[in-house]
Amino acid sequence: MRDISPVVSPPPVPDPVSLDTQLEKLLATVAEARPKDDLSPIGKAYQYAAQYHSGQLRASGEPYLMHPLAVAQILADMRMDVVSIVTGLLHDIVEDTTVTTADVQKNFGPEVASCVDGVTKLSKIDFFSAEDRQAESYRKMLLAMVNDIRVIIVKLADRLHNMRTLSVLSPERRERISRETLEIYSPIAHRLGMGKVRGELEDLAFRYLDPDAFAEISHAIDNQRAANEAYLERMRRTVEDELRREGIPARVDGRVKRAFSVYQKLKRQKISLEQVYDLFALRIITDSVKNCYGALGVIHNEWRPVPGRIKDFIAIPRPNLYQSLHTSVVGPEGKHCEIQIRTEEMHRIAEEGIAAHWKYKEGKRGAQDDQRVAWLRQLVEWQQEMRDPGEFSSTLKLDLYPEEVYCFTPKGRVIVLPSGASPIDFAYAVHSEVGNTCTGAKVNGRIVPLRYALRNGEIVDILTQSGHLPSKDWLGLVKTSRARNKIKHVINANERERAIEIGQKFLEKEARRHGVQLARIQRNELERVAAEYGMSKIEDLYASLGYGKFSARQVLQKAAPEQVAEDTPPPAPPPPADHSSGVQRRDDDSVIKVHGIDDVMVYRAKCCNPIRGDAIVGYVTRGKGIAVHSRTCNNVQNLMYDSERRIEVEWARNASDTFPVRIVVQTDDRPGLLHQLTTVLASESTNVRSLEARTDFHSGNDAASVEMTVDVRDKKQLEKLCAAMRRISGVRDVERINQ
Ligand code: MN
Repeated sequence: MRDISPVVSPPPVPDPVSLDTQLEKLLATVAEARPKDDLSPIGKAYQYAAQYHSGQLRASGEPYLMHPLAVAQILADMRMDVVSIVTGLLHDIVEDTTVTTADVQKNFGPEVASCVDGVTKLSKIDFFSAEDRQAESYRKMLLAMVNDIRVIIVKLADRLHNMRTLSVLSPERRERISRETLEIYSPIAHRLGMGKVRGELEDLAFRYLDPDAFAEISHAIDNQRAANEAYLERMRRTVEDELRREGIPARVDGRVKRAFSVYQKLKRQKISLEQVYDLFALRIITDSVKNCYGALGVIHNEWRPVPGRIKDFIAIPRPNLYQSLHTSVVGPEGKHCEIQIRTEEMHRIAEEGIAAHWKYKEGKRGAQDDQRVAWLRQLVEWQQEMRDPGEFSSTLKLDLYPEEVYCFTPKGRVIVLPSGASPIDFAYAVHSEVGNTCTGAKVNGRIVPLRYALRNGEIVDILTQSGHLPSKDWLGLVKTSRARNKIKHVINANERERAIEIGQKFLEKEARRHGVQLARIQRNELERVAAEYGMSKIEDLYASLGYGKFSARQVLQKAAPEQVAEDTPPPAPPPPADHSSGVQRRDDDSVIKVHGIDDVMVYRAKCCNPIRGDAIVGYVTRGKGIAVHSRTCNNVQNLMYDSERRIEVEWARNASDTFPVRIVVQTDDRPGLLHQLTTVLASESTNVRSLEARTDFHSGNDAASVEMTVDVRDKKQLEKLCAAMRRISGVRDVERINQ
């Protein structure tokens, strides 16, 4: 019987043949698979690697060059392209020698350089021995970091060779590397459909992680094979004969199961080794899908199928595109035998996976790449479906190209964030309390600003201080909805508390003005007023007062109608309790109308100083009434996160007020210019509040600037004025300044 999976052989001993012989073998393998390709880069890469790795030794004592050469050979056996093989030869050169990625690019072109760079980046990630959940994140991170599939294939070849030569390392290193292989790399090989690589990686890792179990199972497989060789050979012949009779061309192999997959089966089904009877099976490889089904019919005609064991992965391929028909039959003597049926092409895909699709042809590149990318996307989507869908759906949209960033806590937990995420996002992803009390962050040990955009593989240490509260500015820095919602929540709760306080003070003050003794007003009176406004609690009423949604006088009038007349002219609003003094509230009050609300404090925000004609929007502040901003104001976007506090405002029609506006005029430094400017101002009958001219001595280009504050009625007048000043010869720029 032909054994196509050399499972129980000892780990291959490093080949003692010379490096030159190995290179010849490599070139021959590539030449056979790709007769038309130019192989000269391979020889060049070999010389280059020999030069820079010269003197370096592996743990086994061999020249280091053995390793890249062996990796390249693995890739050549997979029929990978020249770029992949050159990358295999150079994959450790940036990490382990003085050579830089730029050097690689200069000597071997951008494609090789980018692949080598990709492998180098993957090597730098330290995969902590992770719990199950985390291993998934590492695998995704690895896929997310790669933008060329060849990088992963080279990395898998690298890992395969390292696993084959693992015996020379210390037991600790062996265990660590084996665990990483089992948790990270063999699942990736599986997802890429690379069954052969996956199988070898798993069995090698199993051998080192649980030598006793490995020995026991390998031994059992050997025994079973010895005991049943004649039996299986008889079945194989029968199948071959039957197929030939039906005119179905086929190759029939005996297939020994791999030690690790048997081990998993034992664990999964909680059975002992003696109970596993189908350690071996048959595999039929034929020429067409039609003949696959034909062969299945022949088999079932010969032996009775075991119910529930027929699986049609041809009609419904596995997510990694594996295709085959599976069945189990009750053979002679009542023994069960598993049979797989597939075409030659399906077999290649099952063994080599994504590498089997590597039919690199000049000129066909684009379509091929799209196909591969589509496939990898599909794989990635599939692995997402494996998870609890609710957990990731809010934040996760994994793409082959990094739309996500994977970072670590100092303890090695992986935090997955959308790309561009800041340390604040990270802090909230760790825990909302960490987010709320975040005062700063260290990335890879260095302090970074909170606006820093995190990158893959970085270790983020959040600095906290108890009692610290999130700032509104953070809303402009965060990318995750989780952080955004938490920040809003804290700010709102905080503001509401203050608004209640302020509202209460407003009402007390207003009561004193009108000689109303607030203490005498029954609590249920205020509750009634609150209800009139559609609120259930007095606190809500205070909060609305504090936010400036209505005035204290309105509330007081409703609460004590006998003492506060409805038609008394509105008393002056309470003095501003903040830095926004300087604005003329009473004036502005009459030039801006608030939709649906009368008698409310309105002021023009200092940050953008909107004037009549500017598009404006109102924002209900806490305790300061309504701030009116220009719609283009930078602050508006941050403030308006709370849409409930946004309010429509417009310029009143009839008012004739003017607005002070600051203007800076850049000019040539020449006599007479200032006079021309003031002439323009006069002809536009503009009142000038202040004017200051400055010569810029340092610029050396005879520049001057004139800064002035002028009163204008509206935007139209301002624009006209600016246009007139721009027409003056020697004026370089006229700019409205908002602060
Ligand atoms: Mn390596």
